[in-house]
Amino acid sequence: MTTSTDLDPPRPLELSPALSCFPTRTPTLLPATHTNSYALGSRDVLLVEPATPYEDERREWLAWARGLQSQGRNLVGIFLTHHHVDHTGGADFFAAELGLPKWAHPITASLLQPGASRGTATASIDRELLDGETIILDGPEAESWAVLHTPGHAPGHLCLFNGSTGDLVCGDMVASIGTIIIEPVDGDMMLYIEQLQRLLDLNASRALPAHGAAINDPSRFFAHYIAHRLKRELKVLDALHAVGDSGGVAKDLVPHAYDDTPEALWHLAELSVQTHLIKLEQDGRATRDGERYFRLPGGSP
Ligand SMILES: [Zn+2]
Repeated sequence: MTTSTDLDPPRPLELSPALSCFPTRTPTLLPATHTNSYALGSRDVLLVEPATPYEDERREWLAWARGLQSQGRNLVGIFLTHHHVDHTGGADFFAAELGLPKWAHPITASLLQPGASRGTATASIDRELLDGETIILDGPEAESWAVLHTPGHAPGHLCLFNGSTGDLVCGDMVASIGTIIIEPVDGDMMLYIEQLQRLLDLNASRALPAHGAAINDPSRFFAHYIAHRLKRELKVLDALHAVGDSGGVAKDLVPHAYDDTPEALWHLAELSVQTHLIKLEQDGRATRDGERYFRLPGGSP
């Protein structure tokens, strides 16, 4: 976890002639304060992460998008990596203003229905994208982006990978500022670690996260994330052994498993412990009675 903040990021940030980044202020998890939107493509342009719900920021975002149009570029759609409110807060608004369709995974589409998910935005999705599809953006040289379904942080999470440039739009799979929460309602720790490994195996040259700066050594970054999660898993298992035969609920295990984390963050840590416990049960290293988890003999740390 980094402790610096991103209070005033430069924008737009031209990462390459066919890739622009535009961070906007969002209701996100501190120390991050912004979500990066990206414009992919040199002529056809796909806008990624219609994030901001704030009026002043929406005006700036629209001016950026219209600026691309005024360069003769052709906006083709708005892409949502997943349903969380700090990624979707402007989706319907921007789509209506620009007359663009919204693209997302079918699970994200269902979670954005009114009343489907607590504390999130609502939006209607026009084009549902599945793992293995390819998005072709036309231009002087056509650019193709592979659609990857990467559940774990959110069940409908999508990434986009350009095999020619090595650029990977990675949403909330990792962040270069702050931390990624894997919590029991939307998250699945086993899937998350599997999908991080899948992203690592792409050997991308650059990862473009939703929070923080572009990551220039993504495979090492993903490996670090996987190692960090597995190390934490061992601490949760160790905590489970420390409470002995009486077992414990997630909250009981936090002081041991997160003894390196400020107590002010333990309410978030409890959510992560919960998803680690679910994974340990899936792995056959812990068992459960209601909310209470117990060590298993073969599950020693
Ligand atoms: Zn998220």
